Amino acid sequence: MLLKINKFLSSDNVSLIVNENFAINDEKFLEETCIDKNISLIGEIFKTDDSVIFSGKIGYTLTDECARCLQEFDNKIETKFQAAVVQKEDMESDEVQMVIKDGNIKMDDTIKQLIYLSFPMKSLCDKDCKGICPDCGANLNNEKCQCENSLTDPRFDKLKDLLK
Ligand SMILES: [Zn+2]
Ligand SMILES: [Zn+2]
Repeated sequence: MLLKINKFLSSDNVSLIVNENFAINDEKFLEETCIDKNISLIGEIFKTDDSVIFSGKIGYTLTDECARCLQEFDNKIETKFQAAVVQKEDMESDEVQMVIKDGNIKMDDTIKQLIYLSFPMKSLCDKDCKGICPDCGANLNNEKCQCENSLTDPRFDKLKDLLK
């Protein structure tokens, strides 16, 4: 994906709004990461006295597995970034850099890098996911199982003691 910014760079404008949807064509990358190929990119490129900065966020959808109930779900992720737009990559620098070539920024590698960096370690299908019963494996979001253990409430233990 190429972002054409040469007109902006040679103009007097100090900022350029970016709002793009595009698709990643790298099948190997898509297979490896389990993400949907459609990516959104919004943000702003602006000039400062001595540099050009791209500040924005990318959005993508990951086929993820819930850490509690183990169900697959679409995890919509947004990740913010700030990158230096440069003519030539500075290997010494540890900022995120985007290189301009013939007035275009080639986004693909940076976007893949940002996706890797924003990958969630542990995901939940819902913050209130009830998980699965440790005894029978029932998905407690969809059904109530009959296992006693999963229904035991410590407050009832006290009641049981009183009944003795
Ligand atoms: Zn879940
Ligand atoms: Zn159960």
